[in-house]
Amino acid sequence: MKIAVLAVQGAFIEHEKMLEQLGVESFEIRQKKDLEQDFDGLILPGGESTVMGKLLKELDLFEALQEKIKNGLPVLGTCAGLILMAEHLSNDDKVHFGTLPVTVKRNAYGRQLGSFFTNAEVKGIGEIPMAFIRAPYIESVDDGVEVIAKVDGNIVGVRYGNQIGISFHPEVTDSLKLHKYFANMAEQYTITKQQDHQVGAA
Ligand code: GLN
Repeated sequence: MKIAVLAVQGAFIEHEKMLEQLGVESFEIRQKKDLEQDFDGLILPGGESTVMGKLLKELDLFEALQEKIKNGLPVLGTCAGLILMAEHLSNDDKVHFGTLPVTVKRNAYGRQLGSFFTNAEVKGIGEIPMAFIRAPYIESVDDGVEVIAKVDGNIVGVRYGNQIGISFHPEVTDSLKLHKYFANMAEQYTITKQQDHQVGAA
């Protein structure tokens, strides 16, 4: 089981360190040839979503990754990563992957007040520390999207099939819980993939 971390811009190293602490193998996606290897999960890190969106296109990574997400690859998008996944942005006319049926507001807490730290509950995981850095939040969700975390009444975490989108950064805290949860999803995905393969081959 291997998890890919998009590493074209932003806070990708922090995610790799979390996975390393969990003993989960990871590798970086920086260019098209990195997609030749097989992987069972993808992390879209925080950073600057406009820059990442542009680089994904320029490096010709966009379509292949979008296809994988649509086909059920487990994805964890944090902050700018969530923005890349959102089907709608309320204060930006750009849409990137658009695989997560939610409306996200960029820099939702204002530019100055957008960075803070708190502890809150995530459904299925428990209470974890959360770092918000010029963070977005989720204004509304479509049918089928499960809200897994709220802070001060605002939605900050959702799950939709194998996609998890969160507006905060767990990777700059000392809690590995969210990454563990995601690694379990990826593990499950590997098992299902292998079973499908066996059925297909029989
Ligand atoms: N404000 C950034 C954006 O809109 C996201 C910030 C972050 O990822 N920490 O892309």
